[in-house]
Amino acid sequence: DVTLAQLVDWLGRFRDLVTEKQSYLTELDSAIGDADHGSNMARGMGTVMEKLGTPATIDELFKTVGMTLVTSVGGASGPLYGTFFLRIGTTAGAVSGLTYAEFSAALRAGLAGVIARGKAEVGDKTMLDALVPALDAWDAAASAPWDAAFAAASSGRDATEPLVARKGRASYLGDRSAGHLDPGATSTALLFEALAGALA
Ligand code: ADP
Ligand code: MG
Ligand code: MG
Repeated sequence: DVTLAQLVDWLGRFRDLVTEKQSYLTELDSAIGDADHGSNMARGMGTVMEKLGTPATIDELFKTVGMTLVTSVGGASGPLYGTFFLRIGTTAGAVSGLTYAEFSAALRAGLAGVIARGKAEVGDKTMLDALVPALDAWDAAASAPWDAAFAAASSGRDATEPLVARKGRASYLGDRSAGHLDPGATSTALLFEALAGALA
């Protein structure tokens, strides 16, 4: 099962990874965006971990996470990651643990929220290019689904390099967006690296 403590650990590890890779994420965003993805994610997750306190239930945890990202991070990534976490929380409910199947369903609800908000599809060179394969790999895995999800998120991130962006700021560049990794897909791979670390 996935416990509340492991989910808090997941978020702490994600904060640590986006902080460690802050300049790299910003470098990626400087090529096809406005050079703020690293600072957006590091600042947002820093604020999240400061505000977390000691939540009693999984919905309480993710409500704080999601609301903090939506309200404190300007730009596309704040509302998109914020919606992802908010939906995970409302789907999980007022519980302190989830089966792996319940956790997968909560992640899928989070994904549906990102799609509803951002209207992107796989192949548009966005965070969905890491998120969708990660959740598919989670569901297909016979064991250690977090490892399968992390591997798939990383492949999905790498696959964004040749793509032409069809959503977000990078889409303003048209064909010139090709030849660069998508910053949001790169931070989403870090999200699954953090999850694999927390659940292993
Ligand atoms: P901004 O582009 O507003 O500066 P960030 O730089 O923090 O915000 O985040 C950019 C990332 O957001 C992109 O690399 C992409 O992965 C993701 N993104 C942008 N628009 C969308 C969308 N409509 N749906 C899904 N993800 C998106
Ligand atoms: Mg940006
Ligand atoms: Mg911006």
